[in-house]
Amino acid sequence: MNYQQIIEDIYEEVKPLLGKGKVADYIPALAKVDPNEFAITVADLEGNKYHVGNFEQKFSIQSISKVYTFAVAFSHLGDSIWQRVGREPSGNPFNSLVQLEKEDGIPRNPFINAGALVITDMLFDVLKEPRADILQFIIGLTGDSSIDFDKEVATSERENGYRNAALANFLRSHNNINYDIEEVLNLYFCHCSITMNTNELANSFLFLANGGVNPLNNERILSLSQTKRLNALMMTCGAYDEAGDFAFRVGMPGKSGVGGGIAAVIPGELAIAVWSPALNAKGNSLAGVQALELFTTKTGKSVF
Ligand code: GLU
Repeated sequence: MNYQQIIEDIYEEVKPLLGKGKVADYIPALAKVDPNEFAITVADLEGNKYHVGNFEQKFSIQSISKVYTFAVAFSHLGDSIWQRVGREPSGNPFNSLVQLEKEDGIPRNPFINAGALVITDMLFDVLKEPRADILQFIIGLTGDSSIDFDKEVATSERENGYRNAALANFLRSHNNINYDIEEVLNLYFCHCSITMNTNELANSFLFLANGGVNPLNNERILSLSQTKRLNALMMTCGAYDEAGDFAFRVGMPGKSGVGGGIAAVIPGELAIAVWSPALNAKGNSLAGVQALELFTTKTGKSVF
């Protein structure tokens, strides 16, 4: 399969879409990004990498970080996490308060903000230095020690994060946050602020294509069964309230973020990361989703 030619063709085809959506501006520091940026990296399990566009440019991974925090919590706590968070798609916006009220403070899944806040709270139980340990986890997956938080983005989100503060307080009122709310929110904003490029993102998702084993050092991160479950969660809940359409069009488990990144896998084969900051109405990268749809269409590969 000539992945290089395929992603070059995809880049040409999505060029008219670049800049068509809207860059996330509810975190002021994110609003400065050039909406016309674009990059794709494909990393396969044989160690090949293919890139187009600005694949060395780091961007804010935002909600994609929820995959790493979930993987760390799941690897330590196993199925006990399901007592505090569900595994159904929400069909609601990622930062919605409504459902949480109706469902007694148990978030629908770990990828909506409420669920990710609960997972972040769990990290204080299992990690000695949660901030440093999350970074170390991602560095271990990519082999790239330059990966870091973006303090400006984290502070900007902290200063404007009223909805997340409301969610955290509400969860606390249901005893579903155990640690100090400020600390939980700060850790959450920190992990959302991590910057990576598509090359690093694709590399970091390879363990999910590889049955839970980090191909860099053969270290097992999740069991086969846990890997299946994390991929299933990405498929059903990884693209906000557009997860159904993402499965329909793209057909890969993946996770998007409001920074315009999307990382996805075809188990047993490859990981792919795209970045284009202009978002569609549901908060997913407009050109990014189109690029992934073209990728599975042109290669004939998907999980279906
Ligand atoms: N830190 C962002 C928030 O909680 C994450 C948004 C996202 O990428 O979905 O609003």
